[in-house]
Amino acid sequence: MKLLICDTLIMLNLILFGPPGAGKGTQSEKLIAKYNLSHISTGDLLRAERAAGTELGNLANDYISKGELVPDSVVIGMVKNFMLNHGDAAGFIFDGFPRTIPQAEALDTMLHDFSSSISVVLGLEVEEDELVKRLLLRGQSSGRVDDQDENTIRNRFQEYQNKTLPLAGFYSNQNKYVGVQGIGEIDLIFNSLCQHIDAVLQ
Ligand code: AMP
Repeated sequence: MKLLICDTLIMLNLILFGPPGAGKGTQSEKLIAKYNLSHISTGDLLRAERAAGTELGNLANDYISKGELVPDSVVIGMVKNFMLNHGDAAGFIFDGFPRTIPQAEALDTMLHDFSSSISVVLGLEVEEDELVKRLLLRGQSSGRVDDQDENTIRNRFQEYQNKTLPLAGFYSNQNKYVGVQGIGEIDLIFNSLCQHIDAVLQ
């Protein structure tokens, strides 16, 4: 959805924020369809690189399999390429990115080059025990190695606590962070996300 305000095209750029297993992928799919956004999931992009056996994919695999974050420079370069290849997008939904303060700062710079900025950050809030249950269940069908071992899952939470959670404060300081209860019916959570997005669009 692109808005024309005072002869300037405004992009709708959303960050879907939250710990592993909070439902970012599920809600992204629904939001993309409703708001016609281009989806950037750094986890999906990294897994595609790994499946293609690229140098980047092999490097990323060492981190992913241990539940650690892939270095900022690798992820930022990948997102930059994606955005340049989708320059005509009406807006982006960032899923699993940014995950560190340097990534968030780089994203601000990238969007600035599009004469744009983050519209709103939607944080899906779910407690850790529920997340572990969801991830182990997902691991049975997704085939994702990082969803199958509880130690790797706990490591991902540790990375989230230490490096990613500070972003909630980073975006709260910009009045862009909104927390949303991530437990319950998928459609009810979706409706709640849409209400916050529509408030930004008004
Ligand atoms: P996800 O599919 O978003 O849960 O990501 C799976 C794994 O990919 C993470 O545990 C990290 O190892 C890596 N990854 C995905 N996105 C990022 C990111 N923005 N920064 C660093 N590592 C990432």
